[in-house]
Amino acid sequence: MCSRAGRTVRVKPRWCGMPEFSTQQLIEDIAQSLSPEQFDHAVGRSLAAFDTLNEQIIGEKGVTLDCHAGCSICCSLRVETFAHEIFLLARHIRAHFSADEFSALLSRLAAHEEKVLPLTVFEHATRNIICPLLQNGRCSAYAARPQSCRRHHSQDVAACQFTFDHPDDLEFPGAHDRDLFRALTAAMQENIDVYAELGYDHTIYELGTALAEALHDDTSWTRWQERGPAFLQASVTPGA
Ligand code: SF4
Repeated sequence: MCSRAGRTVRVKPRWCGMPEFSTQQLIEDIAQSLSPEQFDHAVGRSLAAFDTLNEQIIGEKGVTLDCHAGCSICCSLRVETFAHEIFLLARHIRAHFSADEFSALLSRLAAHEEKVLPLTVFEHATRNIICPLLQNGRCSAYAARPQSCRRHHSQDVAACQFTFDHPDDLEFPGAHDRDLFRALTAAMQENIDVYAELGYDHTIYELGTALAEALHDDTSWTRWQERGPAFLQASVTPGA
């Protein structure tokens, strides 16, 4: 087990925990976060540490990735996120999208909700439904994308293409580097444990349906701050 700041992480990767950013630091950041902007700053700092960990392991282990700009095969997977990531995304979008871009996104989100909400998690995971933030093969909110997108990587784009062509084959192993994937998953868990311990809703929400709600309903943020459920309609992945 890996222990940081008196906590234990459930998996045992060789690379363990967040470099230069402790769990305690995130707790302190959140405790001092009175405004939405301060909250976003806290989330942004932990995302930056997550990226640093990712790059560190890739460098130290010599992982060779087959990912490249413009490849968006993985953006057809179901994206699982947490409320604090959705609020960061929503505020990033409000700050950076033009009125036309915002309006077009709302239309894509509405179409996405129509497709996804009637589906079970399993059905969604086997349908190749494109993320509504994908535009012209690129993520339109790349700087604020959630941890599950940052964790995703591939050492063989042919394997990604196979999963895209066979979306109902959930047994196919993919082409992750196992150590990298496990270490990033441990870091994600370490991060969400902080929100759980502070009493925040840490439900696993599907990105598109939760983002639609965040952009349409400002009370979602207030509810979450008051330790209630952030989203009431979004698609939810049951916890392990
Ligand atoms: S948020 Fe961005 S990176 Fe993640 S699935 Fe959507 S388009 Fe792809």
